[in-house]
Amino acid sequence: MKLEILQIGSPILRTPARALTIEEIQSATIQQLIELMKVTMREAPGVGLAAPQIGESIQLIVIEDRIELIQNLNPEQIAARERRPVDFHVLINPRITFKDQQKVTFFEGCLSFAGFMGQVPRAIAVQVECLNEHAEHVTIDARGWYARILQHEIEHLHGKLCVDHMNMQSLTSIENYAKYWRDAQ
Ligand code: ZN
Repeated sequence: MKLEILQIGSPILRTPARALTIEEIQSATIQQLIELMKVTMREAPGVGLAAPQIGESIQLIVIEDRIELIQNLNPEQIAARERRPVDFHVLINPRITFKDQQKVTFFEGCLSFAGFMGQVPRAIAVQVECLNEHAEHVTIDARGWYARILQHEIEHLHGKLCVDHMNMQSLTSIENYAKYWRDAQ
């Protein structure tokens, strides 16, 4: 079973999500939701999913960057993006800090903006403080594509979307991304 992923224009995607309590994190309801979000992300397929995208206005994110998804890129593109596999993990009530002012610009997409991609500048390195699915405190230091995923997903919890700071002249359908842009950069 998987969940429906809401598309851009759904008001909940523009609503700041609330934090979860320790008791909520440990509840069967949230533990089941985490499993459903994992399945939904993998089937999409995507590298991250935030709870507002499936209609829950809570500060909960799942992330996983699998080798199968990375293999769509050539070695030069993988190196430029600093993209490496990231094991499945859960972020709850995250706080993000930008560790490097340098920004890098690459095409990215969003499961809530299905069928399109565009260039988005993102910080190259971030630190995230959050809780995991066991309500344990975790500090994540991330660079490259993982840092991009974290920025993208945490924005979802603040009612923001990647289109808010996308270079709109780069906006392209997925088909035209594959046809004209994927191998050009
Ligand atoms: Zn997204």
